[in-house]
Amino acid sequence: MGERTDDTFPGEPFASAQDIEDADDILFAHPPRRVVRWLCGCGEDYPCPEVAFARLVKAAVINPDEPA
Ligand SMILES: [Zn+2]
Repeated sequence: MGERTDDTFPGEPFASAQDIEDADDILFAHPPRRVVRWLCGCGEDYPCPEVAFARLVKAAVINPDEPA
């Protein structure tokens, strides 16, 4: 095996760079906390709407799929 290359984003990102930044911030600010069930760091059930959005953005980058 050779040395690793610094992979950034594979292919063409579907979400904008700002969306990805926001998603990272959201995921960082909303860590899941498992108590009895999944609870978001912001206090709501996990995933909360913001995490759901962030996940959508992430999924769009990894697996581009145009929304209707
Ligand atoms: Zn949250």
